[in-house]
Amino acid sequence: MPIAEALTSITAMIGLVKTLKDVDHDLDKGQLKSQMAQLYSDLADVKMDLVDAQQELHGKDQTIRELNERFDFQKALVEIEGFKYDSKDGRPSGLPYCPNCEVKEGKMYRLSKGDEQFSDCLNCEKTHNAAANGRVNLKSPPIERDVLVGRY
Ligand SMILES: [Zn+2]
Repeated sequence: MPIAEALTSITAMIGLVKTLKDVDHDLDKGQLKSQMAQLYSDLADVKMDLVDAQQELHGKDQTIRELNERFDFQKALVEIEGFKYDSKDGRPSGLPYCPNCEVKEGKMYRLSKGDEQFSDCLNCEKTHNAAANGRVNLKSPPIERDVLVGRY
């Protein structure tokens, strides 16, 4: 993690600066130059580690924002027998989202209306026994899709 590396570098630099502060000022110029070069190099490393840490934190902020948006979206849905609908005054509204794609991809694709009983997912191409406004798993009267398709 860049922050841990930056802290390690800063600790080393503090030690180096302390050495320079306490050193006998009759120190050899070559030795002083060498320690200053090391300090400069360590500062550059810390700067790079902090830039990496900043990017990592920005990425985490973005992930948190997306997860919060997804959570708020999911919280606002109404679930009827495994099919999630948008909520209108607490009741299912419109066509549901594809439960298959939600499980497999973690994404919400709204189903496309097939007829009064079935809806199709344009993403996974699966047909669901789910229609608008919470009508799911209709069995009575039994409606066969082929019969409906044949009638239209
Ligand atoms: Zn799907």
